[in-house]
Order: sequence, then C-alpha cells, then structure tokens
Amino acid sequence: MKKIYFTPGPSQVHPKLETFMKDVLSDDIMSISHRSQAYMEIAKNTHTGLRKLLFIPKSHHIFFMSSSLESMERIIANCVNTQSFHFINGSFAEAFFNASEAQGKTANVLRFLPGERIDMDSVGIPEKTELICITQNETSNGSCIPMKDIYALKKRYPKIPIALDIVSSVPYPSIDFKKIDIAFFSVQKGFGLPSGLGILIVNDVLVQKSKQMGYHDFPSLAQKELLFQTPETPNVLAIYLLGRVVENMLSQGIAPMRHSIESKARLIEEVVLAHPDLGSFFIKDKEVRSQTVLAIEVGNKVDVIIEKLRLKGFVVGRGYGIYKKTQIRIANFPQHSLNDFQSLRKELERIPTQLRK
Ligand SMILES: *Cc1c(COP(=O)(O)O)cnc(C)c1O
Repeated sequence: MKKIYFTPGPSQVHPKLETFMKDVLSDDIMSISHRSQAYMEIAKNTHTGLRKLLFIPKSHHIFFMSSSLESMERIIANCVNTQSFHFINGSFAEAFFNASEAQGKTANVLRFLPGERIDMDSVGIPEKTELICITQNETSNGSCIPMKDIYALKKRYPKIPIALDIVSSVPYPSIDFKKIDIAFFSVQKGFGLPSGLGILIVNDVLVQKSKQMGYHDFPSLAQKELLFQTPETPNVLAIYLLGRVVENMLSQGIAPMRHSIESKARLIEEVVLAHPDLGSFFIKDKEVRSQTVLAIEVGNKVDVIIEKLRLKGFVVGRGYGIYKKTQIRIANFPQHSLNDFQSLRKELERIPTQLRK
C-alpha cells in the first residue's frame, strides 16, 4: 500500500517529485560541474523563484546551507560577538540557544510555556544584545509565535536584528523582510524534498557587519552568491529540485496555498473537537497554535492510534521528546492535499469507536 506521510519532517514528498527526478537523470543534473553555466542557471532559477514566492527583497541574501542546524551555527558565528537573546519554549529553540552557548557566547533567554502567549510589551532585552533568536513555529510541541507579536517586539527594539527559524512553517507565514533580518528553513518539511539543504536568508546590513573569518563567513558567501555559486560543492540535486517545487508553488499561487493549509487544519480541528476520546490539541490558545504542525494529546492511546492509521497507509508522527508517549503530531504542509486530509480525517473519526470495542 502506498503510504502518505504526515510526519513533521522528513515528510510526504512533493507530488511532482517523480517527474522532477526523471528530469534530473535525463538532464545529467547530478554530473554537471558546479562551476558551469548550466549550474548557475539552476541556482539562479531557485534564487529567483524563492524571492518571488516568499517576497524576499534585494536587501536580503539567499545562502545555501546543508541543514538548519548549520544555519543556526553560521548565524551565531557571523552575527554575535558576545551576546544573543533567545525565546525558548521547545526543543528547536533550545538547539538555537545551544549553538550560541557552544560558541562561548552569552546566550540570554526568555523561557515560556508551550501554549503561552508572550506579552511583548513586558519583555526586557539587554541593551548589548546583538541578535534576537526566535523559533516561529516550534515543531516539538505544535506552538507558534504570531508574526504580529514578533513585529511588536521589533517595534520596541528596532535596532536589534531578529533571526527567525521558520523551518516547519514556511511557506505558510507571510514575512515582512523589512522587519526580519534573518530567516532560515530546510527543504524536508514544507517543500516535500529530501533532507540535506538549508536556506538561509540574511539582510545585507548584517553581511556587511559580519567580519571576514576566512571560511564560510557571510561576506565570502555573498561574494560567491553574486555568480549564483557557493564556496563548496553544493547540494546541486536539492537546489535543482527546490527550484522546480517553487515554480510549481508559484503556478498554484501562494495565497490559495496558505488558505488550503488553514482549511486542512480545520478538518483536523473538527474531528478532534467532535471526538473527546481522541483527546485535545496540546496548544489550547488558537493564536499560538501552529497550523502546520498539529500536536494532539491522546494519552496512552498513542501506539494504538499510530498503528491503526499506519495499517490504512497514514503515517503520523509521535510526540517529540517528553511528549513521545502522550501525543501524536500531524504535519500539514503544502504537499499534503485536501484529499489526503479528508481521508485522514475519516480514519481519525473511526478510531474512537474502534478503541471502545
Ligand atoms: C526540523 C527543524 C530544525 C532542524 O532542521 P535540520 O534540517 O534537521 O537542521 C530546526 N528548527 C525547526 C523548527 C525544525 O522543525
């Protein structure tokens, strides 16, 4: 049986991936030189597409990394001399914090609970902070920070750059790059591609301020980017595939895609509300509940539910870390069709009665 992966990453692949992969092989994408004109055209297509899709202005660079954890490390190395500040309510925000601490920086934190909405007016950020690090969508517990709250913070601290982890929400949130200096993501979540490519978007102001370290610093990445190149041999395959996926998304339109994500989330909300046996959303306040990673409390029924769904071809994720035994997570990415969600919903509806028997 063909499975559908609702796991939060790696996840279901893009429906056109097979076609794109055939083109990869017939056009020798994996053999061409990364210094050739053919490669530069591929990279340019991916750059141009991403700019259009996510409204990335000329003021911001696009760098190719191998993962988002690498992006975190590069961001700290390039933008923080002594002090960073981290909003933490889950494991991925913790990873960003660790990237700073591991490099010997003073990493200040504001810890809050999953599901808690931060009152940005009451947040105090130390004066010497060089970078505010925020996980916009916390994959580990299905919470998010509304963009309007992040802009409210920016308004209070206009001079401190913000780095935004949008790994598991992109391309859902609409981001105003006038207010966001850095954003990054990986392609194995909302782009339905194999892992191993991270996209790092950086304001030129920060690139100019970043010192030359001689290796993989922002200025040298920017130098190569002028020619749509990278210092190392990049993940040509993934860069090519991302360009194709982005073209496909552009042809559908970003607005309908975002709308569809909301409709699909609603289908799951309806079934969770209607069937108390299934549990409830871990994040109660809808303002801070993720639309793209749905974490549902199911108590001790995790294994039974996951297994029942798997038998029908639906692979959903377990809770993350401490939530492994009490939650399931359902990814709601652009590659998941409304039809996929309607089928999943039907199976979810069946679960409670089956369990009672
Ligand atoms: C998956 C994920 C990451 C890590 O991405 P990698 O590509 O594995 O480095 C970081 N942040 C968030 C929010 C994620 O969901």
